Amino acid sequence: MRERSYFDWNATAPLREEARAAVAEALSLPGNPSSVHAEGRAARRLIERAREEVAGLVGDRASDVIFTSSGTEANMLALTPAIEVAGDKRPRAKLLLSAIEHASVRAGGRFPREAIEQIAVDPDGRLNLAALAEAVARSPRTLVSLMLANNETGVIQPVAEAAAIVHAAGGLLHVDAVQAAGRIDCDIAALGADLLTLSAHKIGGPKGVGALVRASDDIHFPDPLIRGGGQERGLRAGTENVAGIAGFGAAATVAHRQGAVEAAHMLALRNRLESGLQAIAPEALMFGAEVRRLPNTTLFAAPGLTAETAVIAFDLDGIAVSSGAACSSGKVQPSHVLAAMGVSPALTRGAVRVSLGWATTAAEVEKFLGAWRKLATTLSKKQRGIAA
Ligand code: PLP
Repeated sequence: MRERSYFDWNATAPLREEARAAVAEALSLPGNPSSVHAEGRAARRLIERAREEVAGLVGDRASDVIFTSSGTEANMLALTPAIEVAGDKRPRAKLLLSAIEHASVRAGGRFPREAIEQIAVDPDGRLNLAALAEAVARSPRTLVSLMLANNETGVIQPVAEAAAIVHAAGGLLHVDAVQAAGRIDCDIAALGADLLTLSAHKIGGPKGVGALVRASDDIHFPDPLIRGGGQERGLRAGTENVAGIAGFGAAATVAHRQGAVEAAHMLALRNRLESGLQAIAPEALMFGAEVRRLPNTTLFAAPGLTAETAVIAFDLDGIAVSSGAACSSGKVQPSHVLAAMGVSPALTRGAVRVSLGWATTAAEVEKFLGAWRKLATTLSKKQRGIAA
């Protein structure tokens, strides 16, 4: 196959070499981490080391990390009316979500549908804090779920400000940091999050592993997600995915150590990509460009562009990009994120997401711009009524 250039890091990142090595090491161990013999203890050690490594990425203690099968599952575990804080057992009657959350949060976890309320975002894709303040004033002691960075636009949410509002009303804040981790600082205390979700495969770990991190061990979930042998503090029974967890830990260590350097690398390339993209097609629109965004994400559209056509054209040129979120592509569904930002359905249909990573090179950005030049020329001929 011809050499490919991967620009879909928000869908998933390639496995880091350190994670691959940790997975291989774990796969060679025969023991069950629940067994007391030497083989079992060796497997347990890998899990506990990974717990420390993942905790390190968010500045928390290892004892507050609960491993799950994905970011989706961590969100499902977090979003429940039954969260006890410092012995307070009263259930939370309401779940407030920003209008731009990932599908795994939008589904509302274990809350009944009628208990879920959405909070609006501004046209730039940031949560409207005044709307949040009004909503928590109407229903204090709620659970609020707000992502740290949006998977489609990359827009960074005002999480610390939201935390202050939520806590003043006696509420709890869950933060989905799946896209932010490794790209911007995710210190759980600085964010003011009570609960925080991570996913291994977005930071260079294996797919199928996630974690829910608690800000303190005062936060309890009396309703386990999976009952059985009591693994993961009784919250998620089943023999642990030792290899996946070990790979997650290794990826978290690298992301923690190199995150700032990698972010600077991505930002320089992303800036070149965006200026090139706009120089070729000045009518192209970059969503969320006026506010703080992840250093690796560009969501853009141009009049007359259809995302599916663009994704196929780029693919034929050896370039992987995505139309909006990966989870909804394939299902031709307009992006709920852009709809919440008030973007017209016509423009939304043309939105293409380009996301970079630590291994992206300047040559790949130039290759992307070459493919975009071809596509933009075809588009403008079409719009002028000239057969391409
Ligand atoms: N939250 C956000 C913001 C995401 O982008 C994703 C995946 O795309 C998830 C949660 C789900 O994570 P996972 O793929 O580990 O289930």
